[in-house]
Amino acid sequence: MTESFDAIVVGAGIVGAATAFHLAKLGNLKVCVLDQAGACEGGTGKSCAIVRSHYSVVSNTALTLKSLDIFANFKDWLEYGEAESGFVNTGYLILGSEGPRAEAMRTALRGQQGVGAETWELSLAEVREKHPHLFLDDIAIAAYEPDSGYADPYLTTMSFLNAARKKGVTVRTNEAVTAVRVAGDRVVGVETGNGSLSAPVVVLACGPWSRTLAEPLGLDLRLEVSQHAVLTFAADTAYDGRYPIVKDMNTANKMYFRPANGGVALVGTGDHGRHIADPDELDGNLPDDFILLQGGQLSRRMPNFANARLTASWVGAYDITPDWNPVLGLVPGIEGLSLNYGFSGHGFKLAPAIGMLLAQEILDQPRSIDISAYDIGRFTRTDLLVGAYGEGSIS
Ligand SMILES: Cc1cc2nc3c(=O)[nH]c(=O)nc-3n(C[C@H](O)[C@H](O)[C@H](O)COP(=O)(O)OP(=O)(O)OC[C@H]3O[C@@H](n4cnc5c(N)ncnc54)[C@H](O)[C@@H]3O)c2cc1C
Repeated sequence: MTESFDAIVVGAGIVGAATAFHLAKLGNLKVCVLDQAGACEGGTGKSCAIVRSHYSVVSNTALTLKSLDIFANFKDWLEYGEAESGFVNTGYLILGSEGPRAEAMRTALRGQQGVGAETWELSLAEVREKHPHLFLDDIAIAAYEPDSGYADPYLTTMSFLNAARKKGVTVRTNEAVTAVRVAGDRVVGVETGNGSLSAPVVVLACGPWSRTLAEPLGLDLRLEVSQHAVLTFAADTAYDGRYPIVKDMNTANKMYFRPANGGVALVGTGDHGRHIADPDELDGNLPDDFILLQGGQLSRRMPNFANARLTASWVGAYDITPDWNPVLGLVPGIEGLSLNYGFSGHGFKLAPAIGMLLAQEILDQPRSIDISAYDIGRFTRTDLLVGAYGEGSIS
């Protein structure tokens, strides 16, 4: 007998976990989550998990504000007393130079304030008060948001999955979906290595692996996969965990850094990274010149890191779309298929809100935020979601 569910979610990263939870919470659906590996072993487990609302595409800010609300009320939202996200409220600082970049930042700030974000420009003296170690001679504009911070991606995802289990959701790991089953113009289930499962709704939340299941359905994802490295550096004195996250728009690869466990600074990039054909091709042997570049950029911004030691590094894959924004929601022409990918290096912060919105769309309930602009059709309409910063994970 083929097992039957109301909905099957493929992928147990943050997007799949948040969507499965909300399907059970809002619709009381019988849901099965399947992952080819373990929960949180894709991009989510590699994430720096920064949650900031600074974007030049204003709808991304609106989504993040909803996610910040979920993080702030995590146990209540998940209706699960043991839920933990590990969220640390550090605040977020973004630094830029004069000229077009300053204008772009002012435009972005107005857009963010327009959808209710708490954020404003700071003088350099005010920046120094918040973060005394920063070198600011090349900085002409700085903005700050007090409510932002970073979470623990593993704790957050496992909490969504455990809260979903409490509502009857089945979570099966080490079970790859090999195909989405379609009859006529509608989805009827999936094939796995263990046989067929039936469901009138299939949610794809496969991150950089999305092509394998979506392209046989005739969908052109316009997806690029790239490798990104995160490094941690230790200076002679521990990096203060209360310092805000810093985004340095004056670096070529839009470097960011934040405090992390053990008094180190965790450093990442928001650019194109290294193109890879397959998300399983990650190579953690990082070239010396990249480590020197990141160490140099960090110590230029924080001179007390001039003799810092590299303490750890890891790599993860970004699933990048042409406008660096995700594709979300039900696909016209294939009834019951919800296609969600292309989070382009900034999906962790969006996912708690997006999980709710995808569930509302599937259940045909009123949407808290309109996500129709994130449809896959925008690539052929050339109606891209591009803001004043253009490409990059701060799009
Ligand atoms: C180094 C790095 C740093 C980042 N930093 C940040 C940050 O600071 N802030 C932020 O907001 N975002 C950040 N991101 C981005 C963010 O982590 C991702 O956008 C987000 O985690 C994507 O979640 P996901 O659920 O879509 O994908 P994933 O976490 O990749 O999950 C996809 C899952 O699908 C499973 N799967 C795939 N194919 C199949 C199949 N056929 N059958 C069954 N299962 C399948 C995979 O095993 C995987 O578990 C970062 C990403 C990286 C790599």
